[in-house]
Amino acid sequence: MKKLPEEYIEISGEPFIIAMMYATPQNMTQTAVYEKIGFGNRAIVHKDMWEKISKLIPVLKQENLKLKIFDAYRPPLAHKMLKEIIPMEGFFAANPERSQHCRATAVDICLCDENGKELAYPTKVDAYTPYFAEQIRQGKTDEFFIHLQKARHDYFAPEMETEIKNREYLKQLMLNIGLEPIPHEWWHYNLPGGNAYPMPEI
Ligand SMILES: [Zn+2]
Repeated sequence: MKKLPEEYIEISGEPFIIAMMYATPQNMTQTAVYEKIGFGNRAIVHKDMWEKISKLIPVLKQENLKLKIFDAYRPPLAHKMLKEIIPMEGFFAANPERSQHCRATAVDICLCDENGKELAYPTKVDAYTPYFAEQIRQGKTDEFFIHLQKARHDYFAPEMETEIKNREYLKQLMLNIGLEPIPHEWWHYNLPGGNAYPMPEI
């Protein structure tokens, strides 16, 4: 692995847990794409993104929480492979240029307790479950898209009081440090203006 360009930071250490979902088969494609291309389990972001995320460190320590990172910078080659495995619309952006992950200005995250256990949310990060992953691999998406309603920030259900409270708390933390939520994925946060950043070669 060559040295990172100086505008980019690899996130590591407390209070972060690095668990890149595409470094293992535990993702919708059921393929460890980051391992296949030799990228591995690395959470890399643009330094402007790190400037925001690093503001969380004292807050997380004070609250005895950890931030688990499931995706950050996504190499364009990995994005192309993911898109090839799941070509249907609604999963991966049509090309790397359209994904802020490929510009190192987006993260997929959730909060964990002090022991590293994920807090409860209305869905798992990326709405991943082995059941849906298998369905999608077989080209069956209808049931999954219904499930995805639960991934929206405007999803409410009385029986999910705790899950929704956790989702809202994460959102407030991220808004406080200046990151932007997107309406349909509670785990995804963008650096404002991040789609204008260059795509690095890492
Ligand atoms: Zn994302």
